Amino acid sequence: MINTMQKDDSVKEIIYILAIAARFEREGQYNIAKILRASVDAITRRAAFNLNLTMDRSKLIEELDRIKETLSNHGVNPDFGAALKRGKNAMIEGNLPLIGEIPHPHICRRCGQSYLRKPTTNCLTCGSWPSSFQQFLPVYWLSEFDPLTVLEHLRETPKEVKKLLAGLDEDIFTKLPVNGGWSIRQVVTHLRDAQGVLSTRLKLILEQDNPILTSQAVFDWATREDGKPASTNDIFDMYWSARKKSLDILETIPLKDWWRTGEHEEFGKLTLTQQVSYFAAHEITHLRQLNNLQPS
Ligand SMILES: [Zn+2]
Repeated sequence: MINTMQKDDSVKEIIYILAIAARFEREGQYNIAKILRASVDAITRRAAFNLNLTMDRSKLIEELDRIKETLSNHGVNPDFGAALKRGKNAMIEGNLPLIGEIPHPHICRRCGQSYLRKPTTNCLTCGSWPSSFQQFLPVYWLSEFDPLTVLEHLRETPKEVKKLLAGLDEDIFTKLPVNGGWSIRQVVTHLRDAQGVLSTRLKLILEQDNPILTSQAVFDWATREDGKPASTNDIFDMYWSARKKSLDILETIPLKDWWRTGEHEEFGKLTLTQQVSYFAAHEITHLRQLNNLQPS
């Protein structure tokens, strides 16, 4: 009982902080408001992090039905619940839901009205302009880097990977970590496969107008051994030589080509900059993984 009361009070406090933030925004005090909004993000993320949910996949999928109900009780647009249902069905069939099934949601920053697609008219509740709605994108790496920074990362990350492989032999490369996860060989394979997808998409976006970018199960490929070279260093060389070709192209295209687009099946319309930024940011996360796999 006391727990519930404490929980209710915390929720009230958080809502109050957001109300104060909105009030400061009306005064034009955006720097004060940003600290308040960031703090609410910090508080709620930390609380979620501490919950440390370990439920299995089937239980997780079932949770969507209960959450759908909760969202509806809170007055969230029923389109959101319907989108979750499509996501659930896709997951049960072993697929990723595509952008047509789950578009990017938009929330009215002023009143919290929810829309599954960007509205073309003013907010139905408070009259705010569509340009003031907040769009929610599925991944944040799309806006991580500008063209110059992204080139530097694409050039430097493979060199870091090479350093982390230096002096190790195939026995160490293929050793699986005791706490689960990939071996060094599987990580390097994954980097090569992701680079392969980047090469293909780069070519498509530059040669065609707004081509379809098919969704790839790159994650599943890492553990397959079929058709892979015997040596992990050879897999690295494939990754590096494909990377050099991509760099040659990216370093010579006209600046405006960085804003050519493709239609990603899962994430929707992406510019070349967003697509390349995604791959550059993605592979940096694997550097830490490779570092943790070093023999002690
Ligand atoms: Zn509104």
